[in-house]
Amino acid sequence: MRIGFIGVGNMGGPMARNLVKAGHALAAYDVVRGNLESVVGAGARGADSIRAAIADAEIVITMLPSSPHVRSVYFGDDGVLAAVGRGVILVDSSTIDPHTAREVAARAAGQGNPMADAPVSGGTNGAEAGTLTFMVGATEELFARIEPVLALMGKKIVRCGDSGTGQVAKICNNLVLAISMIGVAEAMSLGVALGIDPGVLAGIVNSSSGRCWSSDSYNPFPGVMANVPAARGYTGGFGADLMLKDLGLATDAAKQARQPVVLGAAAEQLYRLFSAQGHGALDFSAIIQMFTKEPKGQA
Ligand code: NAD
Repeated sequence: MRIGFIGVGNMGGPMARNLVKAGHALAAYDVVRGNLESVVGAGARGADSIRAAIADAEIVITMLPSSPHVRSVYFGDDGVLAAVGRGVILVDSSTIDPHTAREVAARAAGQGNPMADAPVSGGTNGAEAGTLTFMVGATEELFARIEPVLALMGKKIVRCGDSGTGQVAKICNNLVLAISMIGVAEAMSLGVALGIDPGVLAGIVNSSSGRCWSSDSYNPFPGVMANVPAARGYTGGFGADLMLKDLGLATDAAKQARQPVVLGAAAEQLYRLFSAQGHGALDFSAIIQMFTKEPKGQA
């Protein structure tokens, strides 16, 4: 297939490379020219505008930071909707608010371009390995057409429902994740302050009713697990600022739906405070530092 790819940063870069590896003709565009290098090095064509990247594309994929970027890339004077041919499929994999996702898709459909929201989980490692999970909001017919392409970048491709529901799934999952991480951080810090060994406490939680991914796969207390950000000074992983962005999407969407998100709002405030203190670039599990200044693990 001929693919136009807009936004080749930490996630989009490796995703685009996997499409090239699979033999597709891919043209990429990014406002940061340097970000094109690794994709062009892998065999893609580097374009100097959105229009040039999507000129002969059969499918256009975007992977941008947030809603304003998606609006400007799709609605701009020289943006995707202005430049794309009728019938070309559009897929946005950025994590954005469901309202914007539905608005962009409706305008695209209005001019004859079927569009899906398809945010991902799995992080940069999953993007490199082609093992992402895609949460897709699209009609069944469109889903059937894009699934084979998404399967080259991910191992689990799930249709969540119609337009916008991929974003709904993504922000609700991250709402659970943020709250559970804070819960684990709070409990681990309390346990250690009360005198229990952190490894013993984590072992108990992980075989009891407190077990969750934040505890058994991504424990925030240093020394409890190897190969997690807590074992390397909270570098790598999923940045606290990105988690803050996703919590903002969840609480904004909750406001529009008049739905209470009591713990989500508290989690957002905690991450905002952490970010304001200058820690936004650390992995989101570093939120434990709000409870234990310098948690001391066993390692
Ligand atoms: P990133 O900032 O590394 O990449 C975004 C890219 O978009 C950058 O290269 C940027 O230059 C480009 N861009 C911005 N505006 C543009 C424009 N107008 N035209 C063309 N290119 C433009 O971000 P990322 O880590 O790749 O994340 C992308 C999305 O995926 C975000 O919505 C993020 O929340 C989501 N996400 C990230 C992760 C992760 O672990 N990094 C995991 C899951 C989901």
